[in-house]
Amino acid sequence: MDSKTKFQYIKRCKMSRKPEYDTQVQRYLQVSIDAVKAVRTVYMDANFTEAEVLNNVSGVYLIFFYNANGKLFTYIGESDNVYKRWKQHRYGIQSLKKTLYNKFRRHLGTNDISNIAFVLLERDLDDQNARLYRETYNIYKFKSRNYSLNSKNCSSRLRCPDGTHGRCRTWLSYKVVDEKVVLLVFGKSINKNCNLTFVIK
Ligand SMILES: [Zn+2]
Repeated sequence: MDSKTKFQYIKRCKMSRKPEYDTQVQRYLQVSIDAVKAVRTVYMDANFTEAEVLNNVSGVYLIFFYNANGKLFTYIGESDNVYKRWKQHRYGIQSLKKTLYNKFRRHLGTNDISNIAFVLLERDLDDQNARLYRETYNIYKFKSRNYSLNSKNCSSRLRCPDGTHGRCRTWLSYKVVDEKVVLLVFGKSINKNCNLTFVIK
């Protein structure tokens, strides 16, 4: 497979809702999760207290779970205190009537959170804009139409590199390094006096 074909394959996994691509979408997600599991600690909700080591740690996190049919779902978020944030999510999934948590419960088929996994992807990002860049990158990395619980690719709080213009448009691209396809996420401020295009990687 040449690089362009490979990127198109990846993009289809991320953008298509069509049932005929479902197997490859799930395979792509599983491979992405396996790569994370090889290098990061996975905290299951059943062992929530172990994750207390992440109290007051800032960063970008991944939440994932399998539904009753074995389908893998993902959610990416960022926080200045990822442990506290996970605690809020646990409570939310169990009892809050909010769009995000309704989605969690609908796909889980329950408000039982014991099979939900939490992974800190990137830590010690105290600058919020730095976290938002990494959050956006990881949203694209784990993106899928049917299995991502993130409603947006990019937070409205994300600012362009000069730090003043918000409301950025983002898109997925790639470069080839040693014959491997490396994903790149681009951003562009929609402010007409700025027009800066930048890499979110
Ligand atoms: Zn700008």
